[in-house]
Parts: sequence; C-alpha cells; structure tokens
Amino acid sequence: MKNGFKLMLILSFSFLLILSPANAGRTTEYNPSLPKVVILTTGGTVSMKYNPASGGAVSAVSGKDLIAAVPGLDKIANIETVDFCNIYSSQMTPDIWRNLSAKVQEILERSDVQGVIVTHGTDTMAEGAFFLETTLQSEKPVVFVGAMRTGSDLSPDGPANIYNAVLQVCSPQAKVWGVTVTMNQFINRARHVRKDETTNVQTFNSGEHGYLGYIVEGQVIPFNNVLIKKKLPLPDYFPDVPLITTYAGDDGKFIRYAVDRGVKGLLIEGVGAGNVNKNVFRAIKYALSKKVPVVVASRVRHGGLYPLYGDEGGGSSLINMGAYLAGDLSPCKARLLLMIALAQLDMTSEKLKIIFTP
Ligand code: ASP
Repeated sequence: MKNGFKLMLILSFSFLLILSPANAGRTTEYNPSLPKVVILTTGGTVSMKYNPASGGAVSAVSGKDLIAAVPGLDKIANIETVDFCNIYSSQMTPDIWRNLSAKVQEILERSDVQGVIVTHGTDTMAEGAFFLETTLQSEKPVVFVGAMRTGSDLSPDGPANIYNAVLQVCSPQAKVWGVTVTMNQFINRARHVRKDETTNVQTFNSGEHGYLGYIVEGQVIPFNNVLIKKKLPLPDYFPDVPLITTYAGDDGKFIRYAVDRGVKGLLIEGVGAGNVNKNVFRAIKYALSKKVPVVVASRVRHGGLYPLYGDEGGGSSLINMGAYLAGDLSPCKARLLLMIALAQLDMTSEKLKIIFTP
C-alpha cells in the first residue's frame, strides 16, 4: 500500500475514534476504597507495535490493551480508559489539542475523578502538555506519558511509565503540579520540558529548571514545587502565526513575505539570549509597523531569554521597538502561547507583555 494512502487510512480511522462516544470504558474491577483515574489515549509509540508489512511501528493498541499490559494497576486505582484518537504525535495540531483539552476538562470536572493520564507520542508531547497546562481550568493532576519503545521491542518502557503515571496521579504531591510530562521515572513541568534524545528512553528533561520529582519503588519523591502557571481560556480559533527561524546572513525576506501574506503574529527563532541580525531586526520593524505582534525565541535550548544587548538586533533593542522575548519558553511553545493569546478578544500589548514575562 502506498504510504500516503496508508496515512490517510490511519488518520481517517483516528478521527473516527475522536468522534466515537463508544470508546470509553472501565477497565479494572471497581474498588470503592481506591481513587478513580482516567487514562485517555491519543497514540504514539506507546500504542504501537512493529508491523513487518510496513517495515516500521504502526498504531495497534487501544486503551484497554495498554492497561492490560500493566500488572498491578488495580491495586492503586480504579482505571477508566477513553480512546480519544490513535495518531503519531507528528500529526498533532492545535485543533486536536484544543479538543483534547476540552475533553480532559470535562473529565476533570467529574467529582469521582482524581486525575487524568494522557498517553501521547513523545515527538510533540512537550507542546501538547504545555497547551493543556495553559488552557485547563482545573488544579487536578494531569500526567502526559508515552514510550520510546513499542510493545514489540525487547524491553518496552510504556508499561512502567503508565504505572508510574497512575502512582503520581494518586499521590498527594501531584496535587500542586498541574500538568506534567512523566517518563523514565522523572517528573517534568509542562512549561519547561523538552524532548532531547531521538531514540533513548531518557529523552525528557527540564534543563536548568530541574525535575519536579522522581518516582521509585512505588514512591513519588518531590524535588521542588516551583511552578509558573499562566492560564488562558480555550480559544475558539487559531490565528495564523508562523514560526520562522533565522541564520547567519538572513536578509529577513521570509518575515516580510509572511507579513505581506497577512499573518496575525510572528514567532521568530533568533540566536543566543534573544538576538537577531540587523536585517531581521528591520524585517521585524516592518512587521510591527503593520501591527503584527512579534515574539523572539532562541535556537539555544536552555538558559532563557534576556534583553542583554543594545545593538541593532540585540534583545534590548527588540524590546524597545515593541517585540516580546519568549522568556523561558521554547520556540514551539511560545508560538502556541501567542496563538492562544491572540485568539482572545480582549488581548492588548500590555497583556501580551505580562503573558511573555516568566
Ligand atoms: N513518532 C512517535 C510519536 O511521537 C514517537 C513516540 O511516540 O515516541 O508519535
């Protein structure tokens, strides 16, 4: 079968799953002395198995199958599963995350539910978790979890990751953490987590912000509770906000082109602590003159952005001109935040400034 056709089939099947109400179910024998945890599945490697016909990993596993592969869950919680979709996370979109956020919100509002676990592909898990962190209006715990190895690999990591996620939702510590990405025993804030390894199970970290905690031998060990949570209402739509990277000798043409095409905001991936060259600076000035808000992030993975330099293109000159720096957010997360912010009817430049100040 041609790859494009196969992808179409997978996607159509996935969207059928999104629409179908019949994909929810209780998966462990009800025990009234245990909390209730809902596991909502969206796909990714954790739901995949090797398929010799396609020569790669393909979506194969439902929520119920996933839970069946994790012995001992019935000793810690009553588990309910919801099959939300079953897609590679490279196919995730802001629209799907918005529907996911609305679904998780609906589940969290149930008084019998202690918290939600979202299984998700790791490729875009950090952004998905950040989207929910920003738009969920609930303090109950939500744990994003996945796997780097499929169910047919020699030692799959999915079952232990799911077990730990359930432990975390049931633990008193998790109450203050909001949305986390918890994999390979490490607990990361949605805001700071990044995927840092393409194939290794120790792929997620939070850089200089550190882990929130660690799960070992059935215990959730908190390391710190320093949280930055900025909530915004779930948007009705997503304004067009491209993410444009820059490079040595960049003449700013892509920025000017995007502005002339009518984009509603721009996320620029600059260098260092939030700097661009003078041609990019002038292109950003052009964007601002056309009332297109601009946020500058950095290609540097850790350390945050600061207005340190005053040359034409330095962070300080960008701020003085009316651009914003992404602070401690990665370019992709800053773009999501700008889209969510610009979709709010009452957004002003003052409010944007507060939103992009960590
Ligand atoms: N390609 C997979 C995905 O993000 C990778 C994973 O889940 O680890 O869907």
